[in-house]
Amino acid sequence: MEKKIAVFPGSFDPITVGHVDLVKRALPLFDEIIVAVGINSTKKYLFSLEQRLEWLHQVFEAEPRVKVDSFQNLTAHYCQRIGARYLLRGLRNASDFDYEKTISQLNHIVGGGIETVFLIAQPEYSHISSTIVREIIIGGADASPFIPREISIPGQVPAK
Ligand code: ADP
Repeated sequence: MEKKIAVFPGSFDPITVGHVDLVKRALPLFDEIIVAVGINSTKKYLFSLEQRLEWLHQVFEAEPRVKVDSFQNLTAHYCQRIGARYLLRGLRNASDFDYEKTISQLNHIVGGGIETVFLIAQPEYSHISSTIVREIIIGGADASPFIPREISIPGQVPAK
């Protein structure tokens, strides 16, 4: 039977405990999940692509069914290239829904039937976003409650 591969695309700038929770909850649904950093040349990132990929590798190191990759241009074309028929995304609130709905409809058309599987964020993670974590880091506060324990952010005291 064909391997069920899902791509979890994002910026992961940086990866948060919310992202990790989503991947863990989605693992029973797929044979393999590819956490893929989308490279958008017009977007400004706080952390370099290399740094973000290194963190993803560290966080998912112990899970053989999770792979880490990066891609340029359209997510749907990347999925087709690697033989993934599913996309994984999280929904935290109504604005995530509004945004994701259009993207998922477009990906279905452009990607020749790619289905996006959405998981609703768990209540304890639904307030966590990379944007908030970046602000905490830039503001010099402790971001450790929001980032996976496997990684350490430069300038931040490592989690115990
Ligand atoms: P993007 O730049 O594409 O928004 P992100 O790295 O911010 O990428 O997020 C990638 C995906 O992870 C999105 O589907 C987002 O909804 C989901 N996500 C982010 N934070 C959480 C969270 N706390 N709980 C569940 N899903 C989340």
